[in-house]
Amino acid sequence: MFDSLSDRLGGVFDKLRGRGALKEQDVLDAMREVRIALLEADVALPVVRRFIDQVTERAVGETVLRSVTPGQQVVKIVNDALIETLGGEDTPGLDLNAAPPIVIMMVGLQGSGKTTSTAKIAKLLKEKQGKKVMMASLDVNRPAAQEQLRVLGEQVSVATLPIIAGQQPTEIATRAMQAARLQAVDVLMLDTAGRLHVDQQLMDEMKAVAAISTPRETLLVVDSLTGQDAVNVAQSFAGQVDLTGVVLTRMDGDARGGAALSMRAVTGKPIKFAGTGEKMEALEVFHPSRVANRILGMGDIVSMVEKAAEAVKVEDAEALAKRMEQGKFDMNDLRMQLRQMQNMGGLGMLAGMMPGMKKAKAAMQASGMDDRVLLRMEAIIGSMTAKERANPALLNAKRKIRVANGSGTQVQDVNKLLKMHLEMSKAMKQIKKMGGLKGLASMFGK
Ligand code: GDP
Repeated sequence: MFDSLSDRLGGVFDKLRGRGALKEQDVLDAMREVRIALLEADVALPVVRRFIDQVTERAVGETVLRSVTPGQQVVKIVNDALIETLGGEDTPGLDLNAAPPIVIMMVGLQGSGKTTSTAKIAKLLKEKQGKKVMMASLDVNRPAAQEQLRVLGEQVSVATLPIIAGQQPTEIATRAMQAARLQAVDVLMLDTAGRLHVDQQLMDEMKAVAAISTPRETLLVVDSLTGQDAVNVAQSFAGQVDLTGVVLTRMDGDARGGAALSMRAVTGKPIKFAGTGEKMEALEVFHPSRVANRILGMGDIVSMVEKAAEAVKVEDAEALAKRMEQGKFDMNDLRMQLRQMQNMGGLGMLAGMMPGMKKAKAAMQASGMDDRVLLRMEAIIGSMTAKERANPALLNAKRKIRVANGSGTQVQDVNKLLKMHLEMSKAMKQIKKMGGLKGLASMFGK
């Protein structure tokens, strides 16, 4: 996500950070480079201007330039300005404070990812917030659209309104409202018809559906890969219906970030969700501060911890915590950790979220280290006997050769794994000294 922008800015700030003292001219030079980076990222020109003016004004002041770490301070100022541009700290989530059924109307152009996002949000509301959700497709233009939503509904175990051929969107909306009331649904999601361009008929249809269903949220789905076009589309829609937020899809493939950075400033509408892949889990609540951190290569620890929490079964985590408290961490525990890393999306995914890991990730890829390494480590552990797993100190030279042969690896791979295990055990002991997992959690401010 945002790799090219992130690389460009990283280069600029590495130069700044590398110096002890900064002159005003150094900051101005850096800002010129940031300006170019933002324009290349397809950020709207007025947004770029405002951004650069704001940052320059704050960064050339005496307090910054005279400080002990002027480079760091400038980066912090840029970080804060990025957060503001992306929507500020207090970007509102979905407003679900109303009498049920609460209606979420999804609007957007064809191919933007509207139907996919409808199902992703339904899944999230059901699983994370325990809501009873129903979805209905009002798309009578595209032949298979209603069927597509039904199939996705089955995938995420969310009910869809039965399809009746030949009905008009307003008729379907009325029927959906009735069904939602009858079945005591908390949230009703209406997937409206897409079009190739913004046209009047589409807008009229949306208004008619809104009049029937009085949506609490009207979310516009746009494709981040279309850059400023996405922002223009949002402006046209915002002029016609009361948009409450934007879902920005295909952020997974968006190296530039222009749509994300321009959206709030140009349209005044907050980005509420980011689509990050084709799978039903690939949806993130949009947090400006986390995205800003990722853009500046400072990592996104909070999201990482959340992902970890999702991937790890509570019982497993508790069992591991207990063993750590007792100063035990054997190969069985390491194997569990490796599996969890795979569940969390593998090394690449994790590296992208860790502070300062962008470069490490590139190095990892260059040296051929990838998720196969995780599998190889698992294979090595799998070739150990139960006794060896519980007590890795048993592994003498002879046993190591046996394990290497059994797992199709080299003795040096076995040694690497043992070293890693040793280092992790040491780290675990450190954590224990700091007050156990609770102490660690408090470091993350949780
Ligand atoms: P609609 O016409 O707006 O309803 O678009 P669809 O929901 O049918 O999506 C069009 C295509 O985009 C599908 O193949 C989706 O799997 C894909 N898609 C949707 N959202 C994302 C996303 O966030 N990332 C990626 N990589 N693909 C997506």
